[in-house]
Amino acid sequence: MRRQFTQSQKLLILRRAGYKCQICGIPLSETNFEADHKIAYSLGGTTEVWNALALCKDCNRRKSDKPYQP
Ligand SMILES: [Zn+2]
Repeated sequence: MRRQFTQSQKLLILRRAGYKCQICGIPLSETNFEADHKIAYSLGGTTEVWNALALCKDCNRRKSDKPYQP
């Protein structure tokens, strides 16, 4: 399975998150947002919208492959 989310998946993920980072809550737009796996791809998480988080670049970098802690 592919690891990257498609553009249309990303838009869904961003909309579902209310255009906010799901960890730190800063406002997100299509330019500063990154889709990340809730269950890491390396741990068997799938590249599907239900397994995605909308994160800012900082949080995505910090989170890495650790499990999602709300
Ligand atoms: Zn963030």
